[in-house]
Amino acid sequence: MQTPDVLIIGAGLSGLATATFLKHKHPDISLLVLEQDDHPGGAIRSHQEEGYLAEGGAHGFLDNCLESRVLVHETGLEGEVEKAPLSEFVRYICLDGKLNLIPQSPLKILKAPLVPLSAKLRVLMEIFKKPLENEPSVAQWVEHRFGAALVPFADAIFTGTYAGDIERLKLQAVMPGVHRMEQEYGSVLKGLIHKLRNRNKGEGGKKKKKGLPAMTSFNGGMGRLPQAMASRLILNQEIMYRTTVGEIEQIDSGWTVRTGQLELSAPHLVLALPVNRSLALLESTPLPAPPLSFIPEARIATVALGFTDKADIPFGFGYLAPEKEDRFALGALFSSQMFPGRAPEGHVLLEALVGGRRHPERLDLSDEEIIDRVYADLKELIDLPEPPVFSQVLRPKHGIPQLEAGYPDLLEWRQTIHRDNDNIHICGFGWQGIGINDMHKEAWKVAKRILTGLHEEGGDELKGIYF
Ligand SMILES: Cc1cc2nc3c(=O)[nH]c(=O)nc-3n(C[C@H](O)[C@H](O)[C@H](O)COP(=O)(O)OP(=O)(O)OC[C@H]3O[C@@H](n4cnc5c(N)ncnc54)[C@H](O)[C@@H]3O)c2cc1C
Repeated sequence: MQTPDVLIIGAGLSGLATATFLKHKHPDISLLVLEQDDHPGGAIRSHQEEGYLAEGGAHGFLDNCLESRVLVHETGLEGEVEKAPLSEFVRYICLDGKLNLIPQSPLKILKAPLVPLSAKLRVLMEIFKKPLENEPSVAQWVEHRFGAALVPFADAIFTGTYAGDIERLKLQAVMPGVHRMEQEYGSVLKGLIHKLRNRNKGEGGKKKKKGLPAMTSFNGGMGRLPQAMASRLILNQEIMYRTTVGEIEQIDSGWTVRTGQLELSAPHLVLALPVNRSLALLESTPLPAPPLSFIPEARIATVALGFTDKADIPFGFGYLAPEKEDRFALGALFSSQMFPGRAPEGHVLLEALVGGRRHPERLDLSDEEIIDRVYADLKELIDLPEPPVFSQVLRPKHGIPQLEAGYPDLLEWRQTIHRDNDNIHICGFGWQGIGINDMHKEAWKVAKRILTGLHEEGGDELKGIYF
């Protein structure tokens, strides 16, 4: 086999996006993606059964990321896109055993009777609070800056994104942009006001209007994106399945990778893998040892439940339940409201999430028990007069990387490796974020670094928190 310019390990979104960007900018580049599974997509897993379309992994991504939009365009998937605009939907938080509507605009949230007036006034005291020393957890930080009443809301947000535990997730790791703003302005509110003032002034002092983004997926589910990217690569020349890389070695001309049967070399090596898989492969190399040998992961199961339309599902994306509510499900997506067509005519689809960082033991239960307990839980919150007519427990093998104690040091270590070695590129699930848009941004940076030698680490821009 000819030596490719670039070897990419992993055909999840990160590896495939890197390949797509490289080919987009440099159609003649030779690359080879190596994937252990017999299909592309990694943590993305769309499941179709009996007219229902559920997701065992990611449900969608926001359309406010340029890199993701480029990928949708490059793969020709624009005609298959489905969007659920945040401005037209609402979400719910479970508080005191019932669903409470969360409006989508900050002003409406302020007016909503979600917390007492005293708690709202306490939020304003934030401008007088000094930054906490050391590496505060999200829970410590929210309580310190905004008051205890807001902690359940932060809990719901990080349950919805990381399936995580806000007592353990570190602010600096999960909200680096907010952390930087706090350091710079001494207060998040002061920083936001400053940023809004600048942003609202477009050219000539005119106000720039910025709407809310839309949750985006495809008619055939999220699996369409990796499928479409992989289908543009030539099988066994540009992408190989059932090929597990067991060892990597730095050589004079780049890197060699070894699988069971193959030994391949290339000037550039991309590790487009979840953090722990990259750390395991790098262990046997002479590169400096990382400050952590692994990071925790949170596993969740998606429980897809189909009901007849006697089920009265509130309008919106779904709900999340903070830990203090002590509920079995972490929350549920009102999937067929978000993306109509995900359930057969006359039926609706709910997808509940179970497990997460705090309750891995719940994944040891049988499918039947999980379904019964989820139904019992949801019935207390939503008008579900009849049991589900369809049920399926999807158990992803992939956990969600948890950015906890020591994670910022791990990112710094990666920065050092990149600074000192211009032919290895470490990206993928858990490096600089966990969302699809984060993966696509990182993949773009890798492609740019390979093609131009220019390196930007970044990743600490301020991201919107869309609840
Ligand atoms: C349950 C769940 C729900 C999620 N929901 C959302 C959501 O709604 N929105 C959102 O934005 N994000 C969500 N995410 C995150 C999103 O799915 C990830 O950001 C993204 O899929 C990660 O892609 P990746 O390519 O970096 O990693 P992966 O998808 O893990 O891909 C890595 C690939 O590498 C392969 N591989 C591993 N080791 C080797 C080896 N040694 N040799 C060869 N191949 C190897 C794996 O088989 C895999 O295909 C969710 C994740 C999970 C798990």
